Amino acid sequence: MGRISKGVNCNVNGCNNSAVRSLNTNRVKDAGLDINTGSKQSYLCKDHYKEWKKEIKQNEKDDVSLRYGGGF
Ligand SMILES: [Zn+2]
Repeated sequence: MGRISKGVNCNVNGCNNSAVRSLNTNRVKDAGLDINTGSKQSYLCKDHYKEWKKEIKQNEKDDVSLRYGGGF
């Protein structure tokens, strides 16, 4: 996982950029990206990979505040 061969396009709907990363499709969907693939593995271009990373970081922050903000 990680580096991919050339000639693969980004799986985000409406995006035709060439992909630079492959990721688990569920993780991509978790970040709210509109992915168009039937496979377990999704390919993202540079821009969408950046976007994905941003969203995932945001989600992790939310998880942490839930965990420590619950008062249990
Ligand atoms: Zn893309």
